Amino acid sequence: MNLFDLTGRVAIVTGGNGGIGLGMARGLAAAGAKIVVAARDRPKSQAVLAELGPESCFMPLDVADEESCREMVAATLARFSRLDILVNNAGMSIRKPAEDYRMAEWQAVIDTNLTGAFICAQAAFPAMKAAGQGKIINIGSMFSIFGAAYAVPYSVSKGGLLQLTKSLAAAWAPDNIQVNAVLPGWIDTELTRDARQQVTGLHERILARTPAGRWGAPGDLAGVAVFLASAASDFITGSAIAVDGGFSASG
Ligand code: NDP
Repeated sequence: MNLFDLTGRVAIVTGGNGGIGLGMARGLAAAGAKIVVAARDRPKSQAVLAELGPESCFMPLDVADEESCREMVAATLARFSRLDILVNNAGMSIRKPAEDYRMAEWQAVIDTNLTGAFICAQAAFPAMKAAGQGKIINIGSMFSIFGAAYAVPYSVSKGGLLQLTKSLAAAWAPDNIQVNAVLPGWIDTELTRDARQQVTGLHERILARTPAGRWGAPGDLAGVAVFLASAASDFITGSAIAVDGGFSASG
């Protein structure tokens, strides 16, 4: 028996069309899963489908919109008649001094990073419960555990995502649904390329602070996604795994 085999499983990866989401989608596809890339940008999503296997598909999703979340999960179930794995990865940030945020900016970050993950998990629950198994993987951040002076709503959303992980893990463990979080360190993606442009000296500070001595790559997230999506992690729930080159382990 291959503990990591995902043959025949269906996995939704929100924001799976680039960056960390695509890194995880590649891992899940290589382990045999059919991938649903759920995101807003259709051309960008369709461009990655070929490498994710013949049965992978795109589903439109604005994760900040409740109806869109519910429709995306319903469309996935209509197409595949099953849903085994949900990766809540879609996310965004708005960086500015804490005192300058407008309510709409705060709300956009919380809705996208936190509320949308809860809605998608809620929508996935009935099918997972009926199947007697399910895996939900929430993508947190170092800012799930550290404060962020220049990204307050982002750190609040990611801290909340960690508590959402623990609470759903406790709620749904009796249904054999495991809910875990991944806390990436600093990974080279479009999101952090923006941050590097906006925050002077960030690149150098991250290199100096990361014991592994490098930025992460999206491919560094593939293994943990397969682990948390597979039978290998069936008694692990409510946990958070840092994938950070030692960033959170050193002072
Ligand atoms: P990217 O900007 O490369 O990817 C973000 C993804 O989220 C895109 O695929 C985007 O797709 C999707 N997305 C954004 N908003 C929405 C929305 N409203 N509805 C649906 N999809 C949306 O960033 P990363 O790969 O870096 O980030 C992925 C996750 O990892 C995020 O949750 C981020 O917070 C987290 N993370 C990243 C770290 C890093 O160092 N890069 C570190 C720690 C955590 P589209 O535009 O097509 O909708």
